[in-house]
Amino acid sequence: MDKLRTVLMNEKNRIFDGFLRQSSDFDDAVAALRLGEFAQSGAIRRKKSFSESSRQVLSIVNANIVFPDRIMRGSVTIEKGVIGRVSPLNEAVGHVVDAEGLYLSPGFIDLHVHGGNGSDFMDATPADFSNITRFHASHGTTSMLATTLTSLDEELFAALDCYNSFVKTPYPGSRLLGLHLEGPYFAAEQCGAQDPKYLKTPDPSHYTEILGRSAHIRRWSAAPELDGIRAFAKTCRERRIVLSMAHTSCTAAQAADAYQNDGFSLITHFYSAMNGVTRKNCFRVGGLVEAGYLLDGLNVEIIADGCHLPPELLNLVIKVKGCEHVALVTDCSAAAGTTDGSRKIGSRKNGQPVVVKDGVAFLADFSAFAGSVATTDRLLETILNQTRVSIPQAVGMLTKVPAGIMSCADKGEIRPGADADLALFSYRADKIEVKKVFIAGEEFVFPSP
Ligand SMILES: [Zn+2]
Repeated sequence: MDKLRTVLMNEKNRIFDGFLRQSSDFDDAVAALRLGEFAQSGAIRRKKSFSESSRQVLSIVNANIVFPDRIMRGSVTIEKGVIGRVSPLNEAVGHVVDAEGLYLSPGFIDLHVHGGNGSDFMDATPADFSNITRFHASHGTTSMLATTLTSLDEELFAALDCYNSFVKTPYPGSRLLGLHLEGPYFAAEQCGAQDPKYLKTPDPSHYTEILGRSAHIRRWSAAPELDGIRAFAKTCRERRIVLSMAHTSCTAAQAADAYQNDGFSLITHFYSAMNGVTRKNCFRVGGLVEAGYLLDGLNVEIIADGCHLPPELLNLVIKVKGCEHVALVTDCSAAAGTTDGSRKIGSRKNGQPVVVKDGVAFLADFSAFAGSVATTDRLLETILNQTRVSIPQAVGMLTKVPAGIMSCADKGEIRPGADADLALFSYRADKIEVKKVFIAGEEFVFPSP
């Protein structure tokens, strides 16, 4: 017991030293420590700021903090947009937010977003971009890749130009980590909701022009079996662009070649727009699905909206790949958050009409899904309700895994020095509800309904 008391006293002294350093005022430090003691008993009922120097400090207390491998009750201190201390004690300093026992996780990272709330990135206006970033932030997404689709070049260029200027000045909502180009180098027979009119094979003059248009391209989805893909992949690798296999009829052998020799490291919306086993007369041939399972280091993204993949496939993917190689994505379309049914996939002008039914978007003839209408909170809810993974594992597939895929060392985990992108949520009666979101340490103000 005495040993425990000594440990606790040492911890208290250390915290006090920390407060003193931040506040440069002995009385403030004493007050902070006292407030910390109240917080440990769950009795915080007020917000308090201390000296001038500690006003930029925010602490979230009484939180169930979600780490990759466990959940810990305690507090997180944020200073100047970065996580400072993470403690099992309730260290209340600066502006205090009482989490009241809610889960505090890293903000969700979505590597595949076309739009939401009536806007598509292909609409290429700053108003549409900020509509999308605000919409997804209100569901817990703190970072995303703005995703284009197969279109007229002039429309793609307009989206790239808009992105370039949009990120130059401050904007609201989710951070844009870069551009994800979905197309136009796809197999025609696997086009799904990508407009077949605009498909191309990779030609150096074409992709060089696209790459010259924006330095923000971070991911490119393409079919690895197309002629010219090897040179295309080399050019992308030189620019550290993440290559992802998508809308493809490649065999397992072609996929293994693309993974080992061309640097493809990811599969776009696993199971959608690709082959599993096919037959040539008597002989069976493995497809990209089998390659995804066989190649341990190849990551997969899944649209976990509860529609694109049934529970048995969600469970199979997680069982075989392991949570550490699965990223949850929305593939969210402009139709999410709208009710009037007038939205298209792609730009308002040239996109394809979609029908939203039973929580998912279809092409008008119901021949294919046309992206989803899901947000990241729904992905988390689906995974928790339909598989056996734990909250830390499910959160990891929305945070640490996508951050790792994009080499974002400062995002995806709650630890000192990481970006203070956080989501505070409840999980009760099979429902996820995001209550607060912090982006670079600032509380995001939810748009009024
Ligand atoms: Zn997509």
